[in-house]
Amino acid sequence: MSVNLALLDTSFDMCIKCTVCTTKCPVAEVQPDYPGPKQSGPDGERWRIKGEGFYDESLKYCTNCKRCEVACPSGVEIGSIIQKAKVRSGRHKPKIRDYILSHTDLMGAVATPVAPVVNMVTKVKPVRKLMDKVLDIDERPALPTYSWQTFRQWFKKDAPDQTGFKRQITFYHGCYINSNDTTVGKDLVKVLNAMNIGVQLLKKEKCCGVPLIANGFMDKAQSNAKLNTEQFREALEGDSECVISTSSSCSMTIRDEYHKLLEVDNRELVDRIFFFNTFLVKEFEQGNLPEMKPVKIKIAYHSPCHLIRVGGIVFTLEILRRIPGVELHMLDQRCCGQAGTYGFKKENYETSQEIGAPIFDQINKINPDFVVTDCEACKMQVESSTDYKVLHPLSVLARAL
Ligand code: SF4
Ligand code: SF4
Repeated sequence: MSVNLALLDTSFDMCIKCTVCTTKCPVAEVQPDYPGPKQSGPDGERWRIKGEGFYDESLKYCTNCKRCEVACPSGVEIGSIIQKAKVRSGRHKPKIRDYILSHTDLMGAVATPVAPVVNMVTKVKPVRKLMDKVLDIDERPALPTYSWQTFRQWFKKDAPDQTGFKRQITFYHGCYINSNDTTVGKDLVKVLNAMNIGVQLLKKEKCCGVPLIANGFMDKAQSNAKLNTEQFREALEGDSECVISTSSSCSMTIRDEYHKLLEVDNRELVDRIFFFNTFLVKEFEQGNLPEMKPVKIKIAYHSPCHLIRVGGIVFTLEILRRIPGVELHMLDQRCCGQAGTYGFKKENYETSQEIGAPIFDQINKINPDFVVTDCEACKMQVESSTDYKVLHPLSVLARAL
């Protein structure tokens, strides 16, 4: 079988075979059937380029956490090489389960009008057993709950009037904030308004595409990327200073993966698309710091893999350190194991829990009032695997206002 050259990432050629990436792969650490990033990424690609007959089934274990890319001294985009190889091979035909887990906009539209019923039903043990048996969605992890009022509905009806602010930014809320937990979106509005900045929403937006990419729906991910990029362009041509996202995975995807992985050229826009933390730290440094009162809480901060990938942890820590009264404990920079939809799948649940176990143990030892992280998937995993509630850094900041 020949190779689709459009889906080749030639950065494999820069590999110097140092093996550092393999020492940092959370999956290779616990899953003996996974040979690790060096072998699955650049080494395997040298074979796969000869023909897709050299494809290795173990690539399915990669979570695309990108920890290997952070470790690589040669700039090999190992996670992307593996994702593209999976797509080229066409062997991982998505199941109904993968469709349900990855089409988050559709699931949100169906579930939010009847959220209390959906939230109740998905907690019922026989229902979970049935989902486990029929759909291969593991019965053990807690599934995301839905909000009866979407963030967009709240923003339209109940958000404070934003038109009075001289400065305006556009908020890309993503599917989780819109349909599952609207808190972080409301807190962003509260924080930015306290800094005299108004918030606008895009006329329309779609899921960033990260669960679609992970589950093999590349065409749908690409069409979402095209729509979102058009919307970003329109907003930035208007009176918006920039586009802000509050989810670390959405942020990495809409800035970097659109042009690297999905071939949607957004490069002229990326300097004006920010993760909330870089935007806030820049404002703080220019003297635009909201007035804060002490928040007496002990928090344990968990670093999401995709925020580590873009070098963004330092900015979140800078925000948390500026909130008076907060007792901040840093958790080791390890993957929590959830990796978006990976930990919900029956075949991955044990691996996902084994990856996250050291983090769960450390949280239990610290015994914080809250765990804090910038990623909704990490939040779901920690809340499902420990007794602790997880807050977004913006929600800690909003408590201080
Ligand atoms: S992306 Fe993550 S899981 Fe995949 S090879 Fe790299 S470190 Fe391992
Ligand atoms: S860390 Fe980079 S250079 Fe070293 S083996 Fe892995 S891919 Fe190759």
